[in-house]
Amino acid sequence: MSAPRTLRILTQKFKVEFPNELHVDNGAGEIDGVIGACDREANRIGVLATLSPDRARETYLHEVLHACAGMAGLTATYGFDKEEDIVKRLSPILLSALRENPRLVEYLLDRRVLGAGSAW
Ligand SMILES: [Zn+2]
Repeated sequence: MSAPRTLRILTQKFKVEFPNELHVDNGAGEIDGVIGACDREANRIGVLATLSPDRARETYLHEVLHACAGMAGLTATYGFDKEEDIVKRLSPILLSALRENPRLVEYLLDRRVLGAGSAW
């Protein structure tokens, strides 16, 4: 399955690109070794095209979590360094949880409303 080139998160549409090189400047200069990026002002995500498929998926999810964190106001509340630490820790674990539990993914993505018999 090919990676989605667009995403919708809440009301925002994101464009996802897979460039051969990524250049990110954090204001203090260009950051070395960047393999993914999320430009929340431009609603763009970049994932380095040369990554292995597994590394690309994890990086894609990592950048999606950055997009979500920005929309949730986590960056403004905790700062980017803490957000990066949280995203870096969660993205491989979340990917593993989703991969190892396809029934969970199916359940979470089911848009049907639970019936009256589902009360507990
Ligand atoms: Zn990050």
